[in-house]
Amino acid sequence: MLDIIQQLPDHVANQIAAGEVVQRPASVVKELLENAVDAKATDIQLIVKDSGKTLVQVIDNGDGMTHTDLRMAFERHATSKIRDAEDLFNLSTKGFRGEALASIAAVAHVRCVSCLRDAKVANSLLIEGGKVANYGEEAHPSGTSIEVRNLFYNIPARRQFLKSDAIELNHITDEFQRVALAHPYISFRFYHNNSLLFQLPESSLKLRITNVFGKKFDQKLVPVEEETEHVRIYGFTGKPDAARKRRGEQFFFVNDRFIRYQKMHYAVMKAYEDLLPQGMHPPYFIFIEVDPSTIDVNIHPTKTEIQFNDENMIFSMLASSVKHSLGKHNVVPSMDFEIGQAFSVPKSQDNRPLKQPQIKVNADYNPFSNPRPNGLGGSVEPKKPATRNWEALMVKSEDVPEATQAEIWSDPNEHKSASTTVAFAGWYILHTQGDDVHIIHPRRAHERVLYESLLKTIQASTAPSQQLLFPQSIELSKADVQRLQPWVSNLISLGFDMEIDDKHNAMFYGLPVTLNESALPEVLDELLADLQESDRLDEDRFQRALIKNLAKNGAIKSINGMEAKDLEGLVRDLFQCHDAELSLHGKPTMYTLAINELEKYFH
Ligand code: ADP
Ligand code: MG
Repeated sequence: MLDIIQQLPDHVANQIAAGEVVQRPASVVKELLENAVDAKATDIQLIVKDSGKTLVQVIDNGDGMTHTDLRMAFERHATSKIRDAEDLFNLSTKGFRGEALASIAAVAHVRCVSCLRDAKVANSLLIEGGKVANYGEEAHPSGTSIEVRNLFYNIPARRQFLKSDAIELNHITDEFQRVALAHPYISFRFYHNNSLLFQLPESSLKLRITNVFGKKFDQKLVPVEEETEHVRIYGFTGKPDAARKRRGEQFFFVNDRFIRYQKMHYAVMKAYEDLLPQGMHPPYFIFIEVDPSTIDVNIHPTKTEIQFNDENMIFSMLASSVKHSLGKHNVVPSMDFEIGQAFSVPKSQDNRPLKQPQIKVNADYNPFSNPRPNGLGGSVEPKKPATRNWEALMVKSEDVPEATQAEIWSDPNEHKSASTTVAFAGWYILHTQGDDVHIIHPRRAHERVLYESLLKTIQASTAPSQQLLFPQSIELSKADVQRLQPWVSNLISLGFDMEIDDKHNAMFYGLPVTLNESALPEVLDELLADLQESDRLDEDRFQRALIKNLAKNGAIKSINGMEAKDLEGLVRDLFQCHDAELSLHGKPTMYTLAINELEKYFH
């Protein structure tokens, strides 16, 4: 038999390796930014076009590379950062694997210009199809610029696999923020499609946090600081009232490297044990500094996981230092976690006018393609004419087509038979209809009713919106603006009369009639969580997620104070629902006892 094993050519091996290191444009951003940091840059610019699909460029003012190093940099396993395996345990740099540039060059067109500090001329290199296509000299300030164009041009499956521009840009922003937070003493600028998304001057850590995430953290963070012979823990952690329902801004850095570390997350959460209700997440920005010989970073190609030699010691020290700072700063929750809320069928309050929301933004407007002074596009009329008022939201039994009625009450005589609806055991609703007895869970029932009626209204037309006396403004982080912006026109058609202004505030002039003004921050928070967690959100899923969220927030929490006719109305509406027996989370809304079961029982 013939020998069949061959060594793969370099460009194929590089392409395979690239699969691990370069998953999406954001991976390129991470690797290039980290190289710039390793080159001791004090000023770094990130320039991105079309969410990195067309261009990712990083320009630094760091050490630069010699003529030969520039060529070597793109070879596989070529690095200036370690010499032998022992160095792996004495790392002071972000990189060490020597495979990022080789991998990137295997799957994109790359141009690199680099000038040593104080040198007169720079060397340039153009790589196409994994091979050097051009090599030259040119004038360039000291430092390095790397342009990565047409990522995955030679791997169509990969290119196709990329998500929408908005999602890829979110990933890029995440990576940018991680590097920027880890290095407050470096100034950063980040441009996307010629607009400046972030300008971060050299600053303290605290200022860097507010420059990145907005002033919402101004009064909401307490410092954490603890040091022993082996470990230093420092940074900031949120006061309990900065906690949110979504796991937003939670960052660990170990030796200035962003790390995901579930166990250390538990350590921080342990400190909040008695301060926060279940499901609330405080922001934190925690830096852990240890001797590099006591950690292993080389667990994963993306280097976002590490192993501490003495995990338990770090765990307890972290938990106690966070707890200590919360205690020291005398943090008392100022948030009202009471959820009790009186029953209220949505109605027009104070006779304030109901208004069809005006679409103030152009749905096709790409916020990043051409900056506009006021952040708004032209005025566009809603797609469908305004016809309904809020009452249309609540489906009345008379409106239900006969077929549906027949499904609900299969026997027409039964329909006429007497029914009773009363509060039961202080919490449930007891409803008898003909021969059946139903015990109904009121909150789940109301969520179901709101959900289905909202869904119907939205499918039929643009939902009505109730104008607010005073517009509400909610400050968003830049990343949240990016997440939310593509959905503004959908929100408008769902009854949110809103816009995002150029100071990153979401301005609300009117809300869907089912939404109580006071619940807006929570609804928005949950919506942003959905947007953050879901990579693939189409219009339909977005609508359903939002409606679910509205229904959850608008639903009664108990039947306290409800009159008999309210109970009857709720039960009637529930029985008209398509999925009357199921809550929005797939749990039962009612327990039904049929007459024949009773007869069996008493037999
Ligand atoms: P690693 O960072 O793991 O060493 P890379 O493939 O990212 O591997 O980079 C290879 C080498 O190229 C680096 O070790 C460094 O010497 C050089 N290099 C890369 N980017 C820069 C830069 N922006 N400035 C100076 N040198 C750089
Ligand atoms: Mg590197």
